[in-house]
Amino acid sequence: MRNGIFDQFKNLIVKQENINFGILTDIIWCALMDLDENIYNALVEIIGERFVSKDKVITEAYSFNWFNDVITIRENRESSNFLNAPLAVALPGTTEEVIKIVKLIHEVGLKFKAQSTGLGGWNCPLTDDVIILDMRRMNEIRKIDKKNMFAVIEPYVTGATLQAELLKHDLNTHMPGAGPQVSPLASSTSMCGPGFTGDVTGYSARNVLGVEWVLPNGELLKLGSLGLDGDPDWYCADGPGFSLRGVMRGAQGVRGGLGVFTACAVKLYPFPCEPKWNLSGVSPNYEFDIPNYMEFHFINYKNWELAERALNRFSEEEIGFMVCYISNFAAFALFSRDRADLAKKAASIGRLKKPLCVLLCGRTKREIEYKRKVLDHLIEETGGRDFTTSGKFVPRSQSYVEALRSMLGIHAFLATGSFESTFGGMDSLTLAFRMAKENVVLKKEFIEKHSLPDDQGQSGWIQTYEYGHYAHSEMPTMYDINDLSSRQGMFEYYEKSEDVCLNKSLNFPFFIDGDKLHEKWGEKTCNYHVWLRKIKEAFDPQNTADSSFYISTTSELARRSG
Ligand SMILES: Cc1cc2nc3c(=O)[nH]c(=O)nc-3n(C[C@H](O)[C@H](O)[C@H](O)COP(=O)(O)OP(=O)(O)OC[C@H]3O[C@@H](n4cnc5c(N)ncnc54)[C@H](O)[C@@H]3O)c2cc1C
Repeated sequence: MRNGIFDQFKNLIVKQENINFGILTDIIWCALMDLDENIYNALVEIIGERFVSKDKVITEAYSFNWFNDVITIRENRESSNFLNAPLAVALPGTTEEVIKIVKLIHEVGLKFKAQSTGLGGWNCPLTDDVIILDMRRMNEIRKIDKKNMFAVIEPYVTGATLQAELLKHDLNTHMPGAGPQVSPLASSTSMCGPGFTGDVTGYSARNVLGVEWVLPNGELLKLGSLGLDGDPDWYCADGPGFSLRGVMRGAQGVRGGLGVFTACAVKLYPFPCEPKWNLSGVSPNYEFDIPNYMEFHFINYKNWELAERALNRFSEEEIGFMVCYISNFAAFALFSRDRADLAKKAASIGRLKKPLCVLLCGRTKREIEYKRKVLDHLIEETGGRDFTTSGKFVPRSQSYVEALRSMLGIHAFLATGSFESTFGGMDSLTLAFRMAKENVVLKKEFIEKHSLPDDQGQSGWIQTYEYGHYAHSEMPTMYDINDLSSRQGMFEYYEKSEDVCLNKSLNFPFFIDGDKLHEKWGEKTCNYHVWLRKIKEAFDPQNTADSSFYISTTSELARRSG
């Protein structure tokens, strides 16, 4: 809208001289895009002046995010960490307030987008008619049901907060690889959610139970057992009647495109070791008293075939709290304290060929001894070499706490300051290894051109789920955020990696979102985009929930192009 109107204006006056188009854009944009005073006042009436802002200083800040520098290239814009600023930001404090705000926005024909902790470009709109609902005031753990092993959480409860409370009950939660600072509700309802403990805890779609969902017209929908007429509770995600879990989030989440989730229940798990938590030192140099019983093992394999067979066997025998393949470079990055530490270790990186990372945890001495015996047997059976017991790769004590907290992923920013993952499909273990092999060939092209840093093309994470019943594979890829050619290189590699997945049937990468990509993929995959659009139109005919990272209704597309 902003560009369309500006272009028309520019065409009218293009022949005149001495016009500064930068300043002109800003003047026109400010005049056109201010939130109507009546709508602002109505928002203030619902939540109070303190919790609504249309101040440009605030709204522009909400347009900034990690990876927008590449998303903007995808959108044919100048590379920048800013997408479109929202018209206003509202901070509701209760479900009732969310309902009232959504009804108002729906009535006046604007759009909304909810965010929990707001990590990643998919929190920013791509049009100028959106109000952001920042959910940070909804930060209660509503309930911990120890007996039935679930917790009910609001959007701004982080994984770290939830885990700290659960520790008191000797329980644990699934956390995505993004880390403990993100929202388990956002991951469960709206994103993908793979994590390092997936062999035991599955991924976010498998952990969500009852859900409180404000639809795009402001109606409240209670999903799963929460919607029962008699004795409603949060213990089940499916029914009554048909399950709507697939519609609500599918495999990878609808990224704000179908409403606002105000609470959900997540499954809980037994804490895997002694729930002791003694941390000392000063950031970033922490030491952790490794509790009874935890043991990391890095097991090296000579080639892909041996590593795949071994990962299959380790998962099958159900001994690891963490069991995954991480490439040699990724292993050194994830287990380094900081950039200097990584640089010191650089000479050793070549020693690890195809490493598996196995974290054994046990509640009793007998349990850990049993698991260690199985591990030794499996290493022999699969032809691996344990680099940890031989002293060649020994994680610091801090890595143990980072494993318990799912904090390893954050180290992917270590070497160059930014990264993003390519590929990402969930399927069989064999398909996951095929992705990793295809990636090496593709990525080397970009390394040779110097548009991506040299990790030998190997960076990758292959994670099994639910004891090997399925697996996902993604390739965390570093790029230099301060170098435009590196951002451009990242974008081109990104696009090509998606084409490799499409043309070689390697399942869906993480970021097939928005109208253009869904249409491109849908045409080659049973026209799923037609059905996805029908879902959007059934739940949100007016396109009130921002569809920038989901799919838009046909009338919204017509409105934009007209
Ligand atoms: C180092 C790193 C590693 C990562 N690794 C992983 C990984 O291993 N697995 C994984 O799944 N992801 C990973 N990510 C991506 C990350 O998971 C997601 O960005 C994160 O889960 C989102 O959590 P959040 O609290 O920031 O949600 P947000 O960023 O706030 O929201 C994510 C999306 O959900 C929507 N949303 C959020 N809250 C609501 C709500 N209440 N109602 C409706 N819609 C909502 C938003 O509009 C947005 O589109 C990684 C990110 C980083 C930086």
